[in-house]
Amino acid sequence: MTVYNFSAGPATLPKSVLEKIQKEFINYRGTEMSIIEMSHRGQHVDEILNSCKQKIAHHLGLQDTEKEYDILFTHGGASVHFFMTPMNLLHPKDKADYIDTGTWTKKAIKEAKQFGSIEVIASSESNNYNSIPEIKNLSKNLSSDAKYLYLCSNNTVFGTQYQNYPKPVENSFLVGDFSSDILSRKIKIDDFGILFAGAQKNLAPAGLGIVIIRKDVLEQCKENLPSMCSYKVLQKANSVFNTCPVFPIYVMNYVMDWISESGGIETIEKINRQKANLLYETLDQYEIFNPVVEKDSRSMMNITWTLPSEEKTTEFLKQAEENSFFGLKGHRSVGGLRASIYNAFPLEGVEKFCEFLKEFAKKH
Ligand code: PMP
Repeated sequence: MTVYNFSAGPATLPKSVLEKIQKEFINYRGTEMSIIEMSHRGQHVDEILNSCKQKIAHHLGLQDTEKEYDILFTHGGASVHFFMTPMNLLHPKDKADYIDTGTWTKKAIKEAKQFGSIEVIASSESNNYNSIPEIKNLSKNLSSDAKYLYLCSNNTVFGTQYQNYPKPVENSFLVGDFSSDILSRKIKIDDFGILFAGAQKNLAPAGLGIVIIRKDVLEQCKENLPSMCSYKVLQKANSVFNTCPVFPIYVMNYVMDWISESGGIETIEKINRQKANLLYETLDQYEIFNPVVEKDSRSMMNITWTLPSEEKTTEFLKQAEENSFFGLKGHRSVGGLRASIYNAFPLEGVEKFCEFLKEFAKKH
């Protein structure tokens, strides 16, 4: 029986990619060695790393922007960039604006405060983070002298996502945490000076972070930092300052091929919309389900809802597992239920799950 994994991350990866890896795991392309046994400075890993970078650049549409960007691969997932970005960019008297949309921005704000003057210019805390602050009301709050404006594109815990991004003030740029929606839809990248993401949702297994940094922003980065924390050092070393996380990069390279084989980002986005619309429509249809996020802030990646009681939630999770739907428990900090339907989660899984939701609603 097919199992559907709704985990928020690590998450479902394309089955065809896993099969390809399994096939060549012990003997990579006739070398009689596994890719994870090879030198990170050898020809094979070097080819994978460079080819992967090119594919990411293509899928992000970097060739269509006037600005130049670099792509870096880093250790330690996304949380490392909560401190690395301010550490690289802020001198003690420098200012940066942050938009607080819960959990992941709260953590980023806490880290950033160690490096500069941090202004929280908008927050949806008073709404229990069930929406993204209104973009049109933001501009009056922006600090004229902010080095950058920080946001989290998709909040994995609450299930909120920006539909449009705010404009930074002149001579400033956006920094975006894209951990849970990178390459899930087409975005206009030019206003972003830095985008970063942990790999374990839409890209690869855990242990890898990726950073897309605009060349003029890289130039503004500080020089005298611990080497492993310096974007400049990493860029100069082509992300191989030390032993890079070879395995996740290798998997990500195949995930980039899978995106192309699936029809590219436009097609991925179309299917993601189809999946999310179907799930929200089903949840909206029955009174027993309460999708918590306001309609104009709803995420295409993480769909959150509650049931009327703890007992019903426990019963729901039990029945879901009996029907092969796993990983639906909401984040430990908020409870309720959450279906994470990243790029590799199949449409057919959402269709089957909606049938299950309908049956559950009818019975209760
Ligand atoms: N940002 C977002 C939006 C996340 O969802 C997560 C993890 N779920 C993180 C940051 C932290 O990622 P990591 O565990 O890779 O540090």
